[in-house]
Amino acid sequence: RAMMAFAAVALAVATLSGVLTGCGAQSQTDGTIALLLPEAKTARYETFDRPLFEKRVAQLGHYSVLYSNADQDAAAQKQQAESALAAGAQVLVLDPVDSKAAASIVSSARAQNVPVISYDRLISGGGLAYYVSFDNEKVGKLQATALVEALRAAGKPVGGILMVNGSPTDSNAALFRRGAHSVIDTSGLTVLNEYDTPDWSPDKAQDWVAGQIAQYGSRIAGVYAANDGVAGGAIAAFKAAGITQPPFVTGQDAELTAVQRIVVGDQYMTVYKAIQPEAYRAAEAAVDLIKGKKITAPSTTAGVPTTLLNPVAVRVDDIESTIIADGFWKASDICTPA
Ligand code: BGC
Repeated sequence: RAMMAFAAVALAVATLSGVLTGCGAQSQTDGTIALLLPEAKTARYETFDRPLFEKRVAQLGHYSVLYSNADQDAAAQKQQAESALAAGAQVLVLDPVDSKAAASIVSSARAQNVPVISYDRLISGGGLAYYVSFDNEKVGKLQATALVEALRAAGKPVGGILMVNGSPTDSNAALFRRGAHSVIDTSGLTVLNEYDTPDWSPDKAQDWVAGQIAQYGSRIAGVYAANDGVAGGAIAAFKAAGITQPPFVTGQDAELTAVQRIVVGDQYMTVYKAIQPEAYRAAEAAVDLIKGKKITAPSTTAGVPTTLLNPVAVRVDDIESTIIADGFWKASDICTPA
């Protein structure tokens, strides 16, 4: 009996020391990746991008992911990148708060031989190892096409629309706007006014739309809103002005609250972008770069290997065949108000 107890203790100690070596030793990890996301007010980053990226990295080996979120502060993001580099990050996966200012992060990283993946938003200035995003001009075209068709079908071909664009520091916002204008400008619709929403802030979008309602009233036939956050702000402004049925409002991201607004008829459409392939491609490319493998991609952007995924328009009738079929949200998520 004493022998058996001794054996059990010996086994426990051996197991324990094995575990401790396994979790403590630097040599056990395959490398270090920094994931730098731009903000947390838009639901996608913490709900989808971060967990999906970390999940894929974990499937590929024993890598540590240094995560940071800049909360819309470009200077903070620069700091976070410098800390990640100091902590030994071997690759940066960067979704920039400010596409132009982030060029300085790329320079610092390159000076230390650390490659940079431009994630979702394109960083200016070149020197990138890989760029993965969606066809962002198409996002704007899908939004504007849905709006124009809805207004035509409702018999309001001659009306005025408001354009609530994204942040002026986000390169994607300019692409969404360009795509939208290419459709709106040939549609016969009048743009009453346009706004570039600082930081994509739903509150600022709401304030601006409130001012436009005071000025244009019922002349507003529709609102081009660049994402679900600013769409929510726009819709709140109509409600606060006592307008229970807002005009047609577009969106983007298929956020749960937006899908719920589409179901009850407060928002007209959103654009679904499947985050999983975007996060997975970024994770795979990060690991390939650590391993010194060459990145291959379907296209290039100014010489940078590029993957651009396909965005999909979602009106009420499309919810089931797109976001539910894809497992992005369950019917029970949508139908049980949070
Ligand atoms: C992203 C959108 C997001 C927006 C605000 C854009 O760069 O592509 O999905 O809604 O930023 O964070």
